[in-house]
Amino acid sequence: MNVNDSEKVAGVLRARGHEPAPDAESADFVFINTCAVREKAAQKLDHSLDRLGWLKRRRPELRVGVGGCVAQLDGRAILERAGHVDVLVGTHNLRRVPDLLDQAIEEGAPAVDLDRKADAFAVPAGDIAHGSPVRAYVTAMEGCNHVCSFCVVPRTRGPEVSRPPEQIVAEVESLVRRGYPEVMLLGQTVNAYRHRDVGFADLLARVDAVPGLSRLRFTTSHPEHVDRSLGSALRDLERLCPYLHLPFQSGSDRVLQSMRRGHTRARYLEIIDGLREAVPDLALSSDVIVGYPGETQGEFEDTLAVLETVRFDSLFAFAYSPRPGTAAALAPDDVPAAEKQRRLQVVLDYQQRRQREQHAARVGLTEEVLVDTIDGGGRVSGRTPHFRIVHFDGEEGLLGQLVRVKVTGAGPNALSGQLTQAIH
Ligand code: SF4
Repeated sequence: MNVNDSEKVAGVLRARGHEPAPDAESADFVFINTCAVREKAAQKLDHSLDRLGWLKRRRPELRVGVGGCVAQLDGRAILERAGHVDVLVGTHNLRRVPDLLDQAIEEGAPAVDLDRKADAFAVPAGDIAHGSPVRAYVTAMEGCNHVCSFCVVPRTRGPEVSRPPEQIVAEVESLVRRGYPEVMLLGQTVNAYRHRDVGFADLLARVDAVPGLSRLRFTTSHPEHVDRSLGSALRDLERLCPYLHLPFQSGSDRVLQSMRRGHTRARYLEIIDGLREAVPDLALSSDVIVGYPGETQGEFEDTLAVLETVRFDSLFAFAYSPRPGTAAALAPDDVPAAEKQRRLQVVLDYQQRRQREQHAARVGLTEEVLVDTIDGGGRVSGRTPHFRIVHFDGEEGLLGQLVRVKVTGAGPNALSGQLTQAIH
């Protein structure tokens, strides 16, 4: 979502006649799109602003903008911390960045828009500067109605708002016309999508039917909104890839309850069983937090047990950090930092072993790969339908092509292979 927001800002600036600069040193305007999900990401803003403050002392004509979740959360306090910020914009006003920049230049004072009532979808689809020539992100919905104790997203992004399906389909049609073979539908809880009588599975069916689209993906899902229709969609829709990112966060029911996740460990595992019944080769990834307040060694082991039971294809694991204004931040952050890091390392090591085994089992198979990256030195890479990365020898002209690759090697993070056939 954050990357897509940056693409939107780059796009609206480009539509106004601005061009990308190679680096901050030579830019007239630097815009920092912030993430507030973790403390570390939020701290990066201050480091970047320090650096830009130093640059601006040398080049006073440099303009600096800050947008996104930290901007929405901290508001004008950012201007107090960093007096050299010229543009401050919240999560719902990205399309206004060029106007605010003009205003700041004209008035010689910071231009601010943190209004959350603005239409976050208002960036014209054609103005989005997609970072990849192959996989385009398309916003399906924004915001979140959940109240997970550790998460700032409901405060920064506001409640759920789903985009009309006609708009989404039209955007996908336009992307296909412009040559994008793959689309990823985005939302904080994308499978909670509902616009009038159109639910998420209906939306998937509509997008899947767009002529010329090769692949369809979506992220991120919440267990509470997984129903039979999602399993059926993953099984039946031709272009929808058999991959699901479904965060579980903790394997301990006490921790899950404290996190206000709205599901138990048993319910999560039941959902996974149901999905695997519908799609036996479904690739699964998840998010997990270690060192949540009060997490005991036994509760941490409950998390490991879920990893062992589900055997995820990939995993995003984080050490807990309190976020301002969240319910969890009121509880003592009592797992020592070193212990959090130890638990994180245990999870990461476990997952690396698991992925190495899973990847090794693919050696000798032929995978369908959509080439999305030129690695250089005569190598390219792409993703399988299950979102596994495959590197192989290939020409730059393969970018955006669907090819068949025989897997000859496997590491924990990627496969390698030999091109056997171009599909199209
Ligand atoms: S579901 Fe929970 S973790 Fe996900 S965005 Fe909403 S509040 Fe945050």
